[in-house]
Amino acid sequence: LWNKCLLTIGETVSGQAFDTWFAPIRPVSLVDNELTIQVPHRLFYEWLEEHYVEVLKNSLNAALGTPGRLQYRINPVKTKVRTPSLSRRQGQLTEQVQLTQAKMPGNPFVIAGVGRPRIPSNLDDKYTFTNFVEGDCNSLARNAAKAVADNPTQTAFNPLVIHGCSGLGKTHLLHAIGNYVNEKYPDKAVLFVGADTFTQHLVDSIATNSTNELLSWYQNVDILLVDDIQQLVNRKKTQDIFFNLFNVLRQNNKAIIMTCDRPIIELDIEERLRSRFQWGLSADLSEPALETRMAILTCKAMNNNVELPTEVAEFICFHIQHNIRQLEGILNTMVMKRGITGQEKLDIPLAKDVMRSFVSDIHREVTPEIIQKAVAEHFDLDVEKIKSTTRRRQVVLARQISMFLVKQHTNNSLKNIGKLFGGRDHSTVIYSLKTVEDLMDTNDEVKRALAELDRKIRIGKGEW
Ligand code: ADP
Ligand code: MG
Repeated sequence: LWNKCLLTIGETVSGQAFDTWFAPIRPVSLVDNELTIQVPHRLFYEWLEEHYVEVLKNSLNAALGTPGRLQYRINPVKTKVRTPSLSRRQGQLTEQVQLTQAKMPGNPFVIAGVGRPRIPSNLDDKYTFTNFVEGDCNSLARNAAKAVADNPTQTAFNPLVIHGCSGLGKTHLLHAIGNYVNEKYPDKAVLFVGADTFTQHLVDSIATNSTNELLSWYQNVDILLVDDIQQLVNRKKTQDIFFNLFNVLRQNNKAIIMTCDRPIIELDIEERLRSRFQWGLSADLSEPALETRMAILTCKAMNNNVELPTEVAEFICFHIQHNIRQLEGILNTMVMKRGITGQEKLDIPLAKDVMRSFVSDIHREVTPEIIQKAVAEHFDLDVEKIKSTTRRRQVVLARQISMFLVKQHTNNSLKNIGKLFGGRDHSTVIYSLKTVEDLMDTNDEVKRALAELDRKIRIGKGEW
């Protein structure tokens, strides 16, 4: 296999580069599509990582015919980079932590308890896999996170990057990984850190001349969880240091999991970092569908021993679509307000009252867009599909029902409705309305869909 790789590499790089950087590499093993190669020394490895990452990766993928992974081993005779055995390492770890602490006044790390020394994880045990509700919007990210947590030292996803907009569960998943690892592998050192906090640690350590101690401290972590790496943007120095840390950790099979509020490709950081970040797996969190929002809100209510009537939950979830933190905030505020006014039940008027302060841009009036969106969501389709020319039965039905509801709830003319649905002519609209009217009496699926959509849309109407 390595010979195959060399063939591809030879085609891509100059003869001199080949002789200098690839000829000395020795293949060590190939296990589960993971190729381990041995390089003469650390600088050699760094140079390869810096300049030939893509070449190596592409040649490996080509030779395997499927995405593979690459591990380096540095010639053990010349340099020792592998961490020593666990118990010894932990001994070292204590010294380093204490050293760092002694040298750094106001050190943010506090060693909890006496007993066995451990790196304080900064984890919030409120966030676990158990209370993370899975849905289409998050299942890839959730399952990748779980896979890493199950087997942090042999993860295929290194680094794992979870990205998505604010309030969709990135930080939750990061803590969940940490908490899970802490439970399953109590002797692994887990550290959760925000990218901003990391920068702050560096700045502090520079002030107290203890950057080396800080870094060796970080390097002893087994699972590094970095939240909000978009905060590295515009921080050249932090990026440089993080780059080195990243390489050392990854080289030593330490798991790195990061979150970001945008896809890595859109992240304005040094190219070498960006390419590293793309080595593993990127999984995104998208906006949850109505039923997932319902499940999450219901779960939060249950965990807080709050009785939340279904119609109130539906009302909230129908309107709050983009941010789970907001969903939760509304629930919490309702509970608080109820406490103040002594009101017994969480009801829709209270929900409206609270939501007004949370959401400014809520639709006050039923528009064709709202209807199209509601129908699309109901049938699990894109709005664009509904407007398209597709003749798939389910899409056609969704389109006809949307037209019907637009006619019912808004005062658009037939001609206008045709326009709203991809420029159909007015006879098509008439035919659609007629079809739905007929199906309404005969077809249970349509009957149910109409009833549910009607309710949703009316909830959306309200005076607010
Ligand atoms: P982010 O870091 O992406 O901005 P958070 O992880 O802080 O978002 O999540 C915001 C809130 O939403 C948290 O309270 C979190 O528990 C909750 N949350 C997000 N997704 C889920 C989910 N799938 N199941 C349960 N709670 C969730
Ligand atoms: Mg967050």
